[in-house]
Amino acid sequence: THRTGTGTLRDLLSELHGRLATMNDGSVATYIPELAKMDADLFAITIVGIDGRVLEVGDAAQLFSLQSMSKPFVFGQALEDHGREHVLGKVNVEPTGEAFNSILLDEQTNRPFNPLVNAGAIATADLIDGRDFPERLTRLLKIFERYTGRTVHFDNSMFYSERATGHRNRAIAHLMRNFGMISDRIDETLDLYFQQCSIQVNCRDLAVMGATLANAGVNPITGEQAIRAEYVKDVLSIMFTCGMYDSAGSWAYGIGLPAKSGVSGGIIAVVPGQFGIGVFSPRIDARGNSARGVAVCRELSQRYGLHVFEAG
Ligand code: GLU
Repeated sequence: THRTGTGTLRDLLSELHGRLATMNDGSVATYIPELAKMDADLFAITIVGIDGRVLEVGDAAQLFSLQSMSKPFVFGQALEDHGREHVLGKVNVEPTGEAFNSILLDEQTNRPFNPLVNAGAIATADLIDGRDFPERLTRLLKIFERYTGRTVHFDNSMFYSERATGHRNRAIAHLMRNFGMISDRIDETLDLYFQQCSIQVNCRDLAVMGATLANAGVNPITGEQAIRAEYVKDVLSIMFTCGMYDSAGSWAYGIGLPAKSGVSGGIIAVVPGQFGIGVFSPRIDARGNSARGVAVCRELSQRYGLHVFEAG
């Protein structure tokens, strides 16, 4: 739409990037040994419009692991494959004040609280079907190839690093198996989960993935339908209520966009009907979100009135 608008936005992105590049709050996650190796100073911001226009600044091609940002997309695939009723029988859609790796399940139904905590993400990974494990793995990767519009890869070192240290996730999976919430394929499903966390993307990918959700499920670069339009609202509402770890509520209140962060320092935010925002900066704050990433999204939201309930 706005030629001058885009110019202004490009200037704002450069200005924001320059200013926030000196903010060094937070620290790189180290609980997965392989994550700790990332250069803390990397910083990129990308915006992709539903018209496919790309604006980016900083280290936009730097690869990093998707981590928890994979979770909403796997939830979307589970919905497509099994329908709402079946999926919601395995995972609830309630935000939780508990940590992302909480082992708690809902007391009445034994379901994980939502698809964006680890328990819920493992339950939705279990729903990714295939004739055998390689086919499940291929189908998993295909989800992300539709959203990013390019060939993506698992990061083997990240996968093995997480698999070797993922005792808590293994415990969560076994507890869910005990309650019949996941199938007998526990080890396969855990590997799928560790693999989805390891997928390598860059900041531009994050923005394209966000723009695809902003664009009724159609990737604005390739024109491919990444997810059926009817399920986009499921994914976005779960991102809006549960996407930002323990600050989901204050994020929804103050920034007001469906979003998902990951421990690698990425954030995907969605401005429905307009654009996707990707930010990458590995230093994460006490609540688990990229410190610069949150600052970027807050400024963009306030400057342009992007809060979904903005009334003028
Ligand atoms: N791979 C991570 C885990 O399960 C996900 C971390 C995240 O981004 O929250 O521990």
